[in-house]
Amino acid sequence: MAWYRQLHWQIIIGLILGTIYGVLAAAQGWGGFVSDWVAPFGTIFINGLKLIAVPLILASLVTGVASLSDLKKLSRIGGKTIGIYIATTAVAVTLGLFIVNALDPGLAVPQEMRAELEAEYATDAEGRMASAANAEARGPLQVLVDLVPDNFFAAITAGTRLFGGDGFSNEASTLQVVFVSLLLGIGLIQVPPERAKPLLSVFESLNDVVIKLVDVIMLMAPVGVFALIAATITSLAGDDVGRIIALLGALGYYCIAVLAGLALHTLITYPLMLRVFTPMKLGTFFSGIGPAQLVAFSTSSSGATLPVTMERCEEKLGVSEEVSSFVLPLGATINMDGTALYQAVAAVFIAQALGMDLSIAAQLTIVLTAVLASIGTAAVPGAGIIMLVIILQSVNVPAEGIALILGVDRILDMVRTVTNVTGDATVATIVASTEGQLNIPDPSVDTDRLVAVA
Ligand code: ASP
Repeated sequence: MAWYRQLHWQIIIGLILGTIYGVLAAAQGWGGFVSDWVAPFGTIFINGLKLIAVPLILASLVTGVASLSDLKKLSRIGGKTIGIYIATTAVAVTLGLFIVNALDPGLAVPQEMRAELEAEYATDAEGRMASAANAEARGPLQVLVDLVPDNFFAAITAGTRLFGGDGFSNEASTLQVVFVSLLLGIGLIQVPPERAKPLLSVFESLNDVVIKLVDVIMLMAPVGVFALIAATITSLAGDDVGRIIALLGALGYYCIAVLAGLALHTLITYPLMLRVFTPMKLGTFFSGIGPAQLVAFSTSSSGATLPVTMERCEEKLGVSEEVSSFVLPLGATINMDGTALYQAVAAVFIAQALGMDLSIAAQLTIVLTAVLASIGTAAVPGAGIIMLVIILQSVNVPAEGIALILGVDRILDMVRTVTNVTGDATVATIVASTEGQLNIPDPSVDTDRLVAVA
């Protein structure tokens, strides 16, 4: 098959052309045109993905659980998944702290630049701090309360709120869909097979249909990605490309520290884990998961990317549906290694730039709060910086300091979302492998669904 017909190449081409067009549009002052005529195609693409996320979680999780012979297996897989998720996040935060302490990027920010950034982003920072205050006011056990919906149908229709809104109510609604699906699946195991069959068939059929729809929506990915990237660039630059370049110059060291940490975690920690716990070849893993990484990069949302992650893990990596349908939706909501790593670097950077020295005890507090915060971070663009406010408060660094990094946050968000999604896929592969549920497809049989659909 010609290389350009492969999905990931088409998305990469969309990404490159979108970047070139975005820079050109910003330089020419075409921001208004882009937001009126280009950006909507990106929104349509993301909406399409969000649209199928809820039916996909519901159908695949119900059928996955119902196919389990015993519930012990479910709790074993659940325990293992959450354990690995927390462990990888702790590694990510520690890695971030090592890098930021080694590079000391905060010491490189000149005094006058600090004042300028603080003034420019003060209002934005206030908005983020208000959202963080909302999240904190909800109380420590609110997460558990939110897990159990009081209305079955409202939970299932949560799609309208899913991955949108303020970034917190939707966090709960994703987990509510997972909870309701688990309950339904458990109920189906408990009734005699002939009574369960009709309902189960509905979910099985829905599952097959939705997985096919992922392929259909992904046909739009190259155009969607083009539009998303172009719109991000023009809105960041605000008709002045020099602005992005100046910001990157001022915060260059900080960006390098975050990107180096994310690269190490994505390209060393995960491959090492895959090597140790699975027979998966790294080439197969990264080419399989590539399109999901590209969608994560352009949407900055691991929630919107979820349908693609699930499809790629099942079709290209050979993760069983039973494992992927449980591990991936859970991962998209609670596992954010990239976000946690970035939060650790950002917290120390802000402290350094404000002339504060963080003790070892404070850095350990960062490890703990960043792991917890990443669990509570919603899978939507920009959620990480809201939770950063809570981390800063835990180590007594003024939260207004986020004004220093707001200008480059969207760019780093794109990259940390790639790490988040790669982490979910890695854990799904490991859980599947250790459960004997990994059937790596033969790479010589090309199953690229794009061609199948086209
Ligand atoms: N955008 C990230 C995600 O969806 C969350 C964040 O770090 O802001 O995974």
